[in-house]
Amino acid sequence: PTDPNYDLFQLATRVTGKRLFPNFAFLDAPFNRQEQPGKAEVAYMGCRTRVFEDRGDIPSVTGRGNLSFTSINLVRLALQSQTVDQMFEVVQDTTRLACRQLIARYEFQASRTADEFPFLYQHVWKDGETLRNKDQVGPVLKHGTLAVGFIGLAECLTVLTGSHHGYSELAHRIGLALIQAMRTVVDDFGEQTGLNFSLLATPAEGLSGKFTRRDVSDFGEIEGVTDRPYYTNSFHIPVDAPVTIREKIQLEAPFHALCNGGHITYVETDGALAGNPEAIEDIVRLMAEAGIGYGSINHPVDRCLDCRTEQTIEDQCPVCGSGSIERIRRITGYLVGTLDRWNEAKRAEEQNRVKHDVTGPLASS
Ligand SMILES: [Zn+2]
Repeated sequence: PTDPNYDLFQLATRVTGKRLFPNFAFLDAPFNRQEQPGKAEVAYMGCRTRVFEDRGDIPSVTGRGNLSFTSINLVRLALQSQTVDQMFEVVQDTTRLACRQLIARYEFQASRTADEFPFLYQHVWKDGETLRNKDQVGPVLKHGTLAVGFIGLAECLTVLTGSHHGYSELAHRIGLALIQAMRTVVDDFGEQTGLNFSLLATPAEGLSGKFTRRDVSDFGEIEGVTDRPYYTNSFHIPVDAPVTIREKIQLEAPFHALCNGGHITYVETDGALAGNPEAIEDIVRLMAEAGIGYGSINHPVDRCLDCRTEQTIEDQCPVCGSGSIERIRRITGYLVGTLDRWNEAKRAEEQNRVKHDVTGPLASS
């Protein structure tokens, strides 16, 4: 409250209570903190992507981007492994394979010449102006990042230990170690090639259903693993786990430090946040204390299409009785319109989300 910009922060909490944005990026998180604030500051793309560190150059955000990412299905790897030890080997091998694939793709892109993409290389990419028309773009393109991502850590841990990291401390420890193992491989590739390899907590809007359908057909329906139409996003605690807001934040925070290519933690609340910016502020503070890099608060935004009333609406508008209700929810980062436009897997996931009551103390909600 003593900060000169506290009023802007309060305004942000009020706006997100009404419109689901802005999200909150934590520049003071240990991995985002800069020695000289203002000279270099991290920024996140809307959904989670983080492009910041730049090998051989100062960290920066502008004039760069993520070139490609490849996501690994952790659940399938766990189903193919006999033991936890074997899982570690398979995860590292698969991460190496993904890195080699990203290099092959990068080398193809890098072999193109600047005059094929005049707008990108004259106006967008950092150092693009140093290229002449027939120069290959590699030296500029290498400012971009190559990301290895993953999906379904929760279901993977259920296969390996019988429980996921929202319920079991052992599962949480193994989960962190697995993601750390991926990060180590990715960092090694960065060292060897001088390219900006990073580890990404994949959003997986489409993969969530696609991987699951494939695994059901190969491994059958397995309780707690393949018995729902979707896999849990990246390192997230499953949306139906009855953990408190505080627990969810604390359990997910350590993964933010490992996933330097992008990460996000969501808190689901049960609505009526518009009138409660203090609750949003409390949640944002919990995130800051836990070491979250990027966080967002979800709540239902319903609107009557006839009289424009906005509040949580069950079936009919309480004001005019209309049944034409627009329902806006967030899907893996974005507001893409109403629920009926979502794919089947993501609709099922939304149905299962535990919505936290924010009228009482946060620790018990
Ligand atoms: Zn109405």
